[in-house]
Amino acid sequence: MYLALERYTRPSSVAEALAAYAGGKGGVLLGGGSTLNVEGNHEEVEHVIDLQGLPWKQLASGAQGVEVGALVSLRALGRAAAAWGPRFAAIAPAALAYPVVGLLNRATVGGRVMLDRNDVDLHPVLAALDARLLVVDDAGERALPFPTDAAGRRALAGCLLRGLQLPAGGGRSSFHRHARIQVDRPLCNAAAWVEGSEARVFAGVQGPDAALTRLGAVEGKLSGWGDQRPPDWRGQVREAALADLVAYEDPWASGTYRQDVTATLVVRCLAEVFGEAVSE
Ligand SMILES: Cc1cc2nc3c(=O)[nH]c(=O)nc-3n(C[C@H](O)[C@H](O)[C@H](O)COP(=O)(O)OP(=O)(O)OC[C@H]3O[C@@H](n4cnc5c(N)ncnc54)[C@H](O)[C@@H]3O)c2cc1C
Repeated sequence: MYLALERYTRPSSVAEALAAYAGGKGGVLLGGGSTLNVEGNHEEVEHVIDLQGLPWKQLASGAQGVEVGALVSLRALGRAAAAWGPRFAAIAPAALAYPVVGLLNRATVGGRVMLDRNDVDLHPVLAALDARLLVVDDAGERALPFPTDAAGRRALAGCLLRGLQLPAGGGRSSFHRHARIQVDRPLCNAAAWVEGSEARVFAGVQGPDAALTRLGAVEGKLSGWGDQRPPDWRGQVREAALADLVAYEDPWASGTYRQDVTATLVVRCLAEVFGEAVSE
C-alpha cells in the first residue's frame, strides 16, 4: 500500500521526466515497479514518476552492435538476445535467471541495471561485454562504461537510464549463477567473454556493495594461452580465480563456500565458451 502517495506523474518526454525527477529530489522512479513494490520504504513514497510513457522500448541489433531501451522487459531482452549470436550468449540466461514469468514480464532492463545491489544477475554480463549505459540528466545525454565499482555506481545517482549499448564484435560469452533454489537471488554469479587472447571475466556478489570483482589473474592466464590452453586449464583457472576472489561472507553463505562455488562458475563459463562439457 502506497499510504503516503500524493502524486503520480507519467512523463511523455525526457524533459518532463527530468523536470519531475529533479536529479533524484522530485520523486521515486518507476520502471516495472517490481523492486519498489516489495522493498524499502514504498509506504513513505509521496511521488511516483512512472517512466513507462517514455519512448525507451527499442531493441535493435546491427553492424554497430546492440541497443536496448531501458523500458524493455527482461523477458523481451532474454528472448531477443537468444538470436544475437555467441558474443551475446551470456545475456539471455542472466536476463531470465529468476524464472518467474510475472516478474520477467514486468521488470525492465533499466530497473535491473540501476538496482544498487550486489546480487544482480545482469551486472557481470554487462561488464564482461563492455556495455555502455546511455544516461540522461540536466547536463544532457552521455554514454558511460558499465560501472564495476562503488564509485562508478554513485556517479549514476540522479540520472535516468535511457538504454544500453553493447558493442559489436566477435568472441563468445557465458554466464553462470548459483542460488539456494532456482527461484531465488544468486549467492554468486560469474560471466566471461573471450575472443582469442582477449578476455573479460567478472564475478558478482563478492562484497557488500554493488561492485564487481574483475578476475585479472584468470584473464592473464587466458591471454597467455590464446588458442593453446593446456590440458589442465580448469585447475589453473580455478587456482587463479581463488587468488582474485576475497572470502565474502554474509548470512547466506560463508566466505570459503562462496569463493569455491564462484571459482567453479568461472570454470563453467569458460568451458562453455571453449565448447567443452561444462561439468567434468
Ligand atoms: C521476488 C524477487 C526476486 C528477484 N530475484 C532476482 C534475481 O534472482 N536476480 C536478479 O538479478 N534480480 C532479482 N530481482 C530483482 C529484479 O531484477 C528487479 O526487481 C527488477 O529487475 C527491477 O526492474 P523494475 O523495472 O521492476 O525496476 P523498478 O522496481 O521499477 O526500479 C528499480 C530501481 O531502479 C530505478 N530505475 C528503474 N528504471 C530506471 C531508469 N530507466 N533510470 C533510472 N533509474 C531507474 C528505480 O528508481 C529503482 O531504484 C528480484 C526481485 C524480486 C521482487
